[in-house]
Amino acid sequence: MERGAPWRDFRPLLRNDSLVSVSPPALAERPWKGSAGPGRFKFRRQKAGRVLRKPSHYARHYEGCTAVLCTKHGKEAAIAPPLRAMLGLAVYVPAGMDTDILGTFTGEIERVGTPLEVAIRKARMGMEATGLSFGLASEGSFGPDPRAPFIPVHHELLVFVDDQRQLQVVEQVVTSRTNYGHSTAASLEDLADFLDRAGFPSHALVVRPNTGPETQPLYKGLRAVGALQEALRECASVSADGLARVETDMRAHMNPSRLAVLRRLAFRLGHRLRTPCPSCQSPGWGVVGVIKGLPCAECGYPTELVRELVEGCPCCTFRRNRPRADGRRTASAGDCPYCNP
Ligand SMILES: [Zn+2]
Ligand SMILES: [Zn+2]
Repeated sequence: MERGAPWRDFRPLLRNDSLVSVSPPALAERPWKGSAGPGRFKFRRQKAGRVLRKPSHYARHYEGCTAVLCTKHGKEAAIAPPLRAMLGLAVYVPAGMDTDILGTFTGEIERVGTPLEVAIRKARMGMEATGLSFGLASEGSFGPDPRAPFIPVHHELLVFVDDQRQLQVVEQVVTSRTNYGHSTAASLEDLADFLDRAGFPSHALVVRPNTGPETQPLYKGLRAVGALQEALRECASVSADGLARVETDMRAHMNPSRLAVLRRLAFRLGHRLRTPCPSCQSPGWGVVGVIKGLPCAECGYPTELVRELVEGCPCCTFRRNRPRADGRRTASAGDCPYCNP
């Protein structure tokens, strides 16, 4: 179920200069908080008899274009509306595309490569099938937070491939607001706490035998108590230890929490794609990295916290540093390895 260590997956992003990426800062700190993010974007309301002017610094490079989104899990519900509103970009989901051949959450097919590689492969798959020059795909990973193993984290990335301009843009988010988890049980009564945490029944569940030679049956997308009970009974009876393993279903259409993250990412991607590079004017200007070393307020020692953000262009080599959007200039002594070893 855990699709590799999510942290390892950030490194390859920095290898290729055409890929825009942000390495994950500490969960507790979001240096870009306060910048124009999803929460801050406001739809401009069209009032009768009034022509709205587009902000001059926002380019609509993708107005009237169509991008293909490869998904069989209804991700377009979260991704398409923000992109249409912000860019005028339509999202097309081709029928019959099987993205499961690139890996499944439940492990029947193993994912090969990093999440970014898989996402780009997925976007290209749709572009090849439809002949469109714009492709979208997202890829999610779930696992324990490396700093606090009891807290599950969700890493999601959304990639946009533009073959007309030869660019690839990635937006990603790491969040602990996920229901990701698993439990074992022989019956429904043992599961009360877990069902609460998992957000059942708005969030679906996966059930399979806990141990033993039998990996089947495998039930996915369980949202009804009766079906869950039946699956528990059947899986527990074939498991060597008499228990069924119950997992959260992380597929987008089965998991409203994941859809909310995708929507947030789509707003971020929309913002980035309408922000032109100050040097070459190509779309996709945004944060591509961070510089650590925010000085300690007590002793001035450079801490592990982010000091500055690096903005960059996916087409040219132009880069520019900017201070943290939250205006923080110093780190507290608690984060200082000298004051608080
Ligand atoms: Zn540029
Ligand atoms: Zn200090």
